[in-house]
Amino acid sequence: MKKHLAGGMIALGAALGAGAASAQETFIAIGTGGVTGVYYPTGGAICRLVNRDRADHGIRCGVESTAGSVYNINAVRSGELEFGVAQSDWQYHAYQGTSQFEDQGAFEGLRAVFSVHPEPFTVVARADAGIETFEDLQGKRVNVGNPGSGQRGTMEVLMEEMGWTMDDFAVASELQAAEQSQALCDNNIDAMIYTVGHPSGSIQEATTACDAVLVDVDNAATQALVEANPFYRVATIPGGMYRGNEEDTTTFGVGATFITSADVPEEVVYTVVRAVFENIDQFRSLHPAFANLDPQEMANDGLSAPLHPGAERYFREAGLIE
Ligand code: GLU
Repeated sequence: MKKHLAGGMIALGAALGAGAASAQETFIAIGTGGVTGVYYPTGGAICRLVNRDRADHGIRCGVESTAGSVYNINAVRSGELEFGVAQSDWQYHAYQGTSQFEDQGAFEGLRAVFSVHPEPFTVVARADAGIETFEDLQGKRVNVGNPGSGQRGTMEVLMEEMGWTMDDFAVASELQAAEQSQALCDNNIDAMIYTVGHPSGSIQEATTACDAVLVDVDNAATQALVEANPFYRVATIPGGMYRGNEEDTTTFGVGATFITSADVPEEVVYTVVRAVFENIDQFRSLHPAFANLDPQEMANDGLSAPLHPGAERYFREAGLIE
């Protein structure tokens, strides 16, 4: 069994101060998503930069593939994980205790660390399914996403806004993110939904293993959602990114964010944030979806829970926040 910080099994001072010779290490785990998404390599990139200086700070960072945003927030809440990647809409709702988090109530100890890449709400359909817009999904076999994923939650919000239920689909399947591209190309579903950064392995798989098209998600319902909620915005997936998809796709989107709990010590969060921001060029090079990341935006945008004090300390020192 690994010893996790949130379990309180390791004296942090000892672990952080002891240096290379110490047998004691502080373990931190990051909850991500499916292995063909962007969260998994995001966690991998963060851990890589943290672990490189492990001899100095004594923190060993590990990544877990999980069900996605909502799962990660709940795992950070229970102390099972120290960090997670989560969509900005679910960060907002978890802190407020709204939407999917209404039953549990507000997660007051939720803390924002930084934001990462944009995540358009992405619908991919088989080219032979006759699906051109989101509205065409009615009567089709649609993978609405696994419970615990961000896309499943956002799909439910959009469906409610449109007045749809699961009965509007011929089939509503709940495959995991990493399973849906193959299901699409095996003709088990007509369309899949993924709130994900671009380019992503999953969409690459769907568009190269068979003929698949990105679908516009742009209607009165999405416009109403964007207008009413600070965490939604109109998003474009540029043409030419995936085989057979030369035109831009218009949809709405959120941002990927990195979150933690107020229970995680300041020094740990500070060390993680510093490892990423002091090596931002290398971080950007670790995934093509990170190409346009801007430190100023990462420290300020899409963060609706309070900043963790460790992140705030680093951002102040670096002049990234006022
Ligand atoms: N946005 C997805 C979620 O919240 C995960 C995307 C990814 O893994 O890159 O579940």
